[in-house]
Amino acid sequence: MRNMLHLFLCLSLISISTFAFADEPGAASGSAPASAAVIPVSPASTKPLPIQELCFEHLKAMPGTVSDADVKAACANVKQLEGCVSHDGTPIYHFEKIGTDKNPKKIFAKALIHGDEGLSGNVARAWMLRLQKIDPRNTWRVMPVTNPDGWKLKTRTNARGVDLNRNFPTKDWADNAQKYWVKNMKSDPRRNPGPDGASEIETRCLIKHFDEFKPDFLISVHIPLGVLDFDGPKVKPPPKFSPLPWQALGNFPGSLGRYMWADRKVPVLTIELKGNEDIKKLEAFDKLQDISGTVAIQADQLNKKDKIKAQ
Ligand SMILES: [Zn+2]
Repeated sequence: MRNMLHLFLCLSLISISTFAFADEPGAASGSAPASAAVIPVSPASTKPLPIQELCFEHLKAMPGTVSDADVKAACANVKQLEGCVSHDGTPIYHFEKIGTDKNPKKIFAKALIHGDEGLSGNVARAWMLRLQKIDPRNTWRVMPVTNPDGWKLKTRTNARGVDLNRNFPTKDWADNAQKYWVKNMKSDPRRNPGPDGASEIETRCLIKHFDEFKPDFLISVHIPLGVLDFDGPKVKPPPKFSPLPWQALGNFPGSLGRYMWADRKVPVLTIELKGNEDIKKLEAFDKLQDISGTVAIQADQLNKKDKIKAQ
């Protein structure tokens, strides 16, 4: 009986992952769900999966082929900070690899803060799997699924309808975030900043990471604008990455760029992928990671100089 049950569970798992792979995402865009794949979650009513298993299911549900062994090896090292759980009860875990430089920069990279930007998760996954195998210069902390409820629901916002990238408690949040949303965004529900700065549990999880890990550099991966955008000191000239030109997009009340760079002086690199065409370029993801690491080192040097000047 026990064996039968085990067999049944295995078969169920196989059928779930087969189904997830059978349905690759269509053209990604900022307004449409990027993926129709089955995304595993831990319903609040049932006991959550151990984070290593949840990580495995998440990373395997992302489009493209990756080896089970590689994913398992990376997911064996994920951790969860206390309180890092989505509104619907799914753990928000992270992967970490310590750098080998004498004074490694600490880089925090996150993807899928917007749940309908499925492709952004691929970058985080590629970086996790690579970091598992190499000895990087810098210390990396990678959060592949920042908004698990939104990913499940295929929405930009979290389960409460809040755009987490407008929910960071910037100094101007109380004065500007709601006003900016109503006036400039015509109260677009996809860009709802929430009732208050850091009102959302997912936002508070990220802030806990920033306070605890104290990153020197942040990377946020999005789609679909096809550019690299940087909130930080003027790195000249920024390293070239031909698929994605550098372009300043500016930042907004409650956005990560404004919160971490304008308010806390931690540079933020925003990677905006173009869409489906990026998906097969795993070696491009490697290059993007190396460029990001170089910008992190350059930006940190400039940032320290500016801070000394300001004293
Ligand atoms: Zn986005």
